[in-house]
Amino acid sequence: MIVGALWCVLCAVDLLAPVYWIALAAAAATAAVATAVAIASGRARRTWPWWSVLAAITLFLAGNVVRQVDHTLSDLAGGRALIPDAIVIPGYVLLAVALLAFAHERGRGRHQGPSILLDGLMAAFALLACCWVFLLEPVLAHRQTGAVVRLVIIAYPALSLFSVVVTMQVAFGAGRTGAAADRYLVACISSMFVGDVLSTLAELDLISSPRLIDLFYATAFAAAAATALDPSMHSLTEPVNGSPPSWPVGRVGLVAVALSVPAVLLLRSGTGGAAERATLSTIILALTATAILQILQALRKAEQSEAGLAHQALHDSLTGLPNRRLMQRHLTEMLDRAASVGRPVALLFLDVDRFKLINDTVGHSLGDELLVQVAVRLRASVRPTDLVARIGGDEFVVVLGSTEAVSDALESANRLRDSLRTPFDVDGTEFFVTASIGLAFAPRGGEDATAEMLVRDADTAMYRAKEAGRDAVAVFDDSMRAQLAERLEIERDLRHAIARGQLHLAFQPIVATRTGSIVGVEALVRWLHPTLGVIVPTRFIPLAEESNLIVEIGSWVLDEALREIAHCRSLPGLENLRVSVNLSAAQLGDEMLVEHVGRALATNRLPGSALCLELTETVVMGDPEAALGAFAALRRLDVQLAIDDFGTEYSSLAYLQRLPVDTLKIDRSFVVGLGEPDSAADTLVAAIVAIARALGMETIAEGVESVDQARRVAALGCDAIQGYLYSRPVRADQLVDVVRMLSRADHSAARTEPTGRSGAHGGAAVA
Ligand code: C2E
Ligand code: CA
Ligand code: CA
Repeated sequence: MIVGALWCVLCAVDLLAPVYWIALAAAAATAAVATAVAIASGRARRTWPWWSVLAAITLFLAGNVVRQVDHTLSDLAGGRALIPDAIVIPGYVLLAVALLAFAHERGRGRHQGPSILLDGLMAAFALLACCWVFLLEPVLAHRQTGAVVRLVIIAYPALSLFSVVVTMQVAFGAGRTGAAADRYLVACISSMFVGDVLSTLAELDLISSPRLIDLFYATAFAAAAATALDPSMHSLTEPVNGSPPSWPVGRVGLVAVALSVPAVLLLRSGTGGAAERATLSTIILALTATAILQILQALRKAEQSEAGLAHQALHDSLTGLPNRRLMQRHLTEMLDRAASVGRPVALLFLDVDRFKLINDTVGHSLGDELLVQVAVRLRASVRPTDLVARIGGDEFVVVLGSTEAVSDALESANRLRDSLRTPFDVDGTEFFVTASIGLAFAPRGGEDATAEMLVRDADTAMYRAKEAGRDAVAVFDDSMRAQLAERLEIERDLRHAIARGQLHLAFQPIVATRTGSIVGVEALVRWLHPTLGVIVPTRFIPLAEESNLIVEIGSWVLDEALREIAHCRSLPGLENLRVSVNLSAAQLGDEMLVEHVGRALATNRLPGSALCLELTETVVMGDPEAALGAFAALRRLDVQLAIDDFGTEYSSLAYLQRLPVDTLKIDRSFVVGLGEPDSAADTLVAAIVAIARALGMETIAEGVESVDQARRVAALGCDAIQGYLYSRPVRADQLVDVVRMLSRADHSAARTEPTGRSGAHGGAAVA
């Protein structure tokens, strides 16, 4: 900059007169060296545009030297030596290419397309046509100047203008950064442009001040050197996330001016010979073609962005499925049409079971990926006329295209559930996904339903499916409305249940089949609601799980159960009583669990063997590796582990073998079937007992209500029994009595008949 400024001053005060062209060559050489240094510095992410700049400067330098030697400036004769021009013009092209590269790199990923190129071309063509008509033609009309020479002379300002337009795009367009390099670049190219305009005038003998011209060229070279050497030069070849283009007004102006050029020129079309007119027409045609391309491109872009916006407004960005708005619009249309034709409309509301848990344990990106895969499966399992929409986190709605009967809709719902059966593979991890589905129909009982009502009804039915144990379908009926209100009330009140002391525990004895002695009790949580009465856990535990309250409730249950059992164990005969506590998935995922268990045991001075934790198969198999870790730590505390409701869900035997599980609890549904004709229950219970024995585990049969059932499970080899036959779950203060009563009698199911006693216990024991 200093050398350049010095040069300019010396030139301006005419001190360089004898050597000014050599000095200009030196300025160009400086710029070339600066560019080479910049390339070598490795600052630029992409170097080829800078090589192009270097080549351009070198060509300018060479062309200038040759021109001084040949004295071609303002030589307008037909035989003018075109060698300097043949060297310099490619230099302009290389410079333009480099500038286009800057503009392109800046706007990368912002779909600018060829608009910069078109802007530049249009401006250049318009200028070319104007110069031709207003300058070149009149001046040269009376001289013997060949068409080639004319074109060469006119090419300089045209190419230069092209560079100016592209530079403006770089410095002030979408990718503007305001960096110093940008400013130097603008200075460089605009000085060059002024120099080029002046030298065109000099060529035409309209001015005669070569030093003035060189002053601008020298400034351009100095600014070029500054651009290359400035630390911010790297930003010229890097994408910038700037605001959208800020000069639409400028662009519109440019297009307007350029397009008015043909009209102006046509007004003067009387002058010139046939060859001149042909040249002019060609330029004007090129200009018009560029303008048309420009307009077409703008239109296409507008159309694309409009279509994009419309799609975006009506679709879910994650899965690409229609969103709630589009679904509602579609559903409203369906309802209107259905009302006139008298055909029913069916809506399915699908919620992925325990998705929150999956999301919280494996992270949101895997959760998202899982949702995408679920969306694909749902989409593939409906008919083309059905609409699948995602209306919230893990909530999908399917509007059935046509429904004749309730059975059609149920079939669709079951198809959707079946489509999720095969495990999902997300990033190498296997996921078992189930869904609860609610079904609602319109019109119902002659009354017309709106889209919102139908969605709400299906949502309510979906909650019923969740309460029924998930992975189920429920059809909406009017009685659910009241239940919905009640559910909301329960959900709201659950938050305060612990603090208000509304929760308590009931304990149900577990009796050994062979000896009839009590081996333990299971703690079952109860909620005494001030207005709704006793609420069973199957109603509020799923709600607690959805809202994450389960961890708090679970901790309370654990503390309370251990406290009560510590008290029982202080009584004679109950010294070895063990308590089983149910764990939810969120608790297993809670890293504080092991610490909490350890602390609670210590507080109550209990050995680990006084506690058994019960987990369902889904909880364990949902994340078997995490279960392995937690189980190992619990095992170190000597805590027992049981798989609850075994046989109803899915277990990988391979994992089961690796887990330190002590007990399998055979689900009540198998016990109910025992002894029924044509029931597979006998075989299944025998199979579970065989698996347990093979893996070194014990079995407890749940829900044993009759003597027959007790005999059957004992005969099939179950180690223990839990059920109403012996006792319902009872409050802690009754527990001691029940335990005593049971231990006094001999209940060995294999030997005696406990008929009379079950009534006796039942009376005392309703909790
Ligand atoms: P579960 O762990 O399978 O508990 C056994 C359920 O079967 C209890 O229902 C019990 O009252 C019932 N039951 C026991 N014997 C019989 C019988 O002979 N016949 C019939 N029909 N039922 C019998 P409850 O207390 O309503 O609990 C239901 C479920 O709620 C439990 O199933 C358990 O999964 C869950 N649960 C209960 N307490 C807690 C808790 O503190 N934490 C967690 N996470 N879940 C709990
Ligand atoms: Ca249990
Ligand atoms: Ca169970």
